[in-house]
Amino acid sequence: MSTATALKTHLTISDARVVYPDGTTTVTALDGVSLSARAREMTAIIGESGSGKSTLLSVAAALIAPDSGDVTVAGERVDGTDDTERARIRREHIGFIFQQPNLVASLNARDQLLLTDHIRGVRGKELRNRARRADDLLDRVGLGGFGERRMHQMSGGQRQRVNIARALMGSPELLLADEPTSALDHQLSHEIVELLRSLTDDLGFATVMVTHDRGLLHVMDQVVEIRDGRVLEGPERQ
Ligand code: ADP
Ligand code: MG
Repeated sequence: MSTATALKTHLTISDARVVYPDGTTTVTALDGVSLSARAREMTAIIGESGSGKSTLLSVAAALIAPDSGDVTVAGERVDGTDDTERARIRREHIGFIFQQPNLVASLNARDQLLLTDHIRGVRGKELRNRARRADDLLDRVGLGGFGERRMHQMSGGQRQRVNIARALMGSPELLLADEPTSALDHQLSHEIVELLRSLTDDLGFATVMVTHDRGLLHVMDQVVEIRDGRVLEGPERQ
């Protein structure tokens, strides 16, 4: 970054190691990986299939605790926590975009964003505030006026935009995405990554995404390439 402003670090992973049991033996999926992501920064994780990208994202997402190493998300320690504590950290600090938008076909875009509020039984003024937030986010992802539109009436690109807006409903400090453009064509992939870039800049979270598409790396502040569970040495922040 060229500015002198000190940017908050929203994700720190230090020397993380993840070993999966595999029959009678084990697979070392991460073998001492370190990574940090700051506010308004976009980080790409690249590497061949089986190199450990999804495992690294699962560690960042507080879905799994590493077998060793330190992980901090938005100032909170993740390593050494139990499932309940990690669920809270995810809810309070992390937005996650899946490869295939996991959206309810019969719901309209606004209700899609409000689904967890509906499940929690949010009502009245609080629900109206959440609905305003949903509409603001739909605006920001380029779907202003599409709140009543149902998922089956939307294109793949529009559904991915709903997916992004939904991930931002909890005001996360950290936005994680596992190959968010892999189901989209070239043009739409660029549009989605440019959108993530402007949301990252405007809303001030840190974005970390796995991608196979080297054509998308020009918008990134940092590219982390992993091979066999290790970060390849190379230029750090761009
Ligand atoms: P990538 O996302 O880069 O394809 P992964 O993180 O999914 O890589 O996998 C890294 C390594 O860990 C691979 O060898 C994979 O087979 C193994 N692995 C991933 N998940 C599990 C699991 N739940 N149990 C056992 N091995 C796993
Ligand atoms: Mg993967």
